Amino acid sequence: MICEKCKELSQKSVITFGKCYSTSLRCDPYYDEYGMYHYHDNNCYTQHYDCSKGHSFVVTGPLQCPNCDWGKNKKITKYLTVGTNVSSNVIHLKTDESTGNLIVSNSILTEISGESQ
Ligand SMILES: [Zn+2]
Ligand SMILES: [Zn+2]
Repeated sequence: MICEKCKELSQKSVITFGKCYSTSLRCDPYYDEYGMYHYHDNNCYTQHYDCSKGHSFVVTGPLQCPNCDWGKNKKITKYLTVGTNVSSNVIHLKTDESTGNLIVSNSILTEISGESQ
């Protein structure tokens, strides 16, 4: 993983892990017909990262299955605007049980800008 903001600025930085939130649906891994382990986790994980140059971003989405592409392209990365204090916000995540769609609700998305100038 690399900080995209630093990449744009041709800077190097260290990325540290911040808070992590997740939904808490039960998920059962399984072995398929070929003996491959699959873990298709419908929970939504929101992980905060901070880079050493002062950028912050969150990655939201399911975990990727270790042995197939499940979950691979579902992750959303959002960069936080400078000065945004997300740590004081409560983030509500849930999965709509009827459709399986992830719902990342209210406060955090309005606090976050994915756009760069
Ligand atoms: Zn950075
Ligand atoms: Zn899989």
